Amino acid sequence: MNNHIHKILEALKDQKILITSHRDPDGDCLGSTVAMTLALQQLGYEVTAVNRDMIPYRYAFLDPSGIIKTPHALSDYDHQVAIVLDASDLLRLGYDMHALFPHVKTIINIDHHMSNQLFGDINLIKVKAAANCEILYDVLTLMNVVVNEDIANALYVGITTDTGSFKYEATSSKTLRIAASLIDHGADINLIRTNVWENEPFNRILALSEVLDNLKISEDGRLSWIKISQGAILKHQLTNGDLESFVDYPRTITGVEVALFIKEIEEGFLKVSIRTKSLVDATKIAGIFGGGGHKRAAGFKIKGDLLDQEAHIIEKVKQEIDREFSCMDLSM
Ligand code: 5GP
Ligand code: MN
Repeated sequence: MNNHIHKILEALKDQKILITSHRDPDGDCLGSTVAMTLALQQLGYEVTAVNRDMIPYRYAFLDPSGIIKTPHALSDYDHQVAIVLDASDLLRLGYDMHALFPHVKTIINIDHHMSNQLFGDINLIKVKAAANCEILYDVLTLMNVVVNEDIANALYVGITTDTGSFKYEATSSKTLRIAASLIDHGADINLIRTNVWENEPFNRILALSEVLDNLKISEDGRLSWIKISQGAILKHQLTNGDLESFVDYPRTITGVEVALFIKEIEEGFLKVSIRTKSLVDATKIAGIFGGGGHKRAAGFKIKGDLLDQEAHIIEKVKQEIDREFSCMDLSM
C-alpha cells in the first residue's frame, strides 16, 4: 500500500485531477467520490468530481454544495490525471472518458471488484475490501488527510451500504474497525440512517408492493426473481436509485440461493441485478451475459423487451445454478 501511495502522490503533483466513478451511482461510489474529492481539496489539489447520473435523493446529504457534476456540465476538460473509483472497467463510467478528457495521461484505478480490468497506470485493487471506501480509508490515512466529519460520513456511507449494514460476507473485522474509527472521527450514524435507510418516498413503497406481488420462485426453490417494466417505472415516477435494494427481498426467502431483479430501465434495454446467498458465485452468472461484479452481488445489461427476455434469462440462470449444484454434489 505504501508503494502505491508514493506513486499516486507522484502522479498527482501539480496536475489537474478528475475524480470519477460508475454510472447509476450507489452509496460506495458516491461516498468514495465525495471523500476523495474533499481529501484532495484539503491537501490543496485542483479537483473536479464527475458522475454520469444524478445522485439518488438518499445520498444527496453527502454533497450539499454540488461538488459532483455531470460530465457535460464542466467549463473545461484539460484534466491530466483521472482517479477512477469503484469501477471494474472504464465502460462502467457510462461516458467516454478518453474522448471527453483528451489530456488525461495518467489513470489511477482504485477498486475492490474481482473483475477489475486493471485499466489504470496505477492499479490499487483490494478484492477483500468490503467496500471501495474501506480502501480509501487507508489511502487517505496514509496521505495524512485529516478525516473530518464530512469525510467520515462519506466513507461510512460507502461501507454501510456495500456491506448491507455490516451483514454481508465481505464484512471483516477490519471493516468494523474502520467503521468504529469513522464514528470516532465524527461519522453521524443518525444522520446517515435517517437519510439512507429511513427516507423512502411513498411512491417507492407502492412500487415495491407491486413488484413483490409478482415475485416468482423456481420449482426447486433455489431461484427467486422480481421484475419491473418501463411502464411501471414511469407510472410510479421512479427516479435514479429508487430500485436499489429491491433485490434483497427475494434473497431473504428460505432456501433461495440466487435472487434476480430484472429492470426495464429503458424501452428495449434491461439491467439485471444478481444476488447470491452462499453457494453460487454471482460473477459467474453475470459473466454469461457479459456483466460482472462481486461473488454475492453482480449485474449485467442486456438489450430486448422484458417480455421477450425474461424466460431466456431465467432459463440460462437455472442452468448455471444446476451446473454449480451438480459440481458441488460431485465434490462431496
Ligand atoms: P447492482 O445490482 O447493485 O446494480 O450491482 C451489483 C454489483 O454488480 C456492483 O458491484 C456493480 O459494480 C456490479 N454490476 C452491476 N451491473 C454491472 C454491469 O453491467 N457490468 C459490470 N461489469 N458490473 C456490474
Ligand atoms: Mn463498491
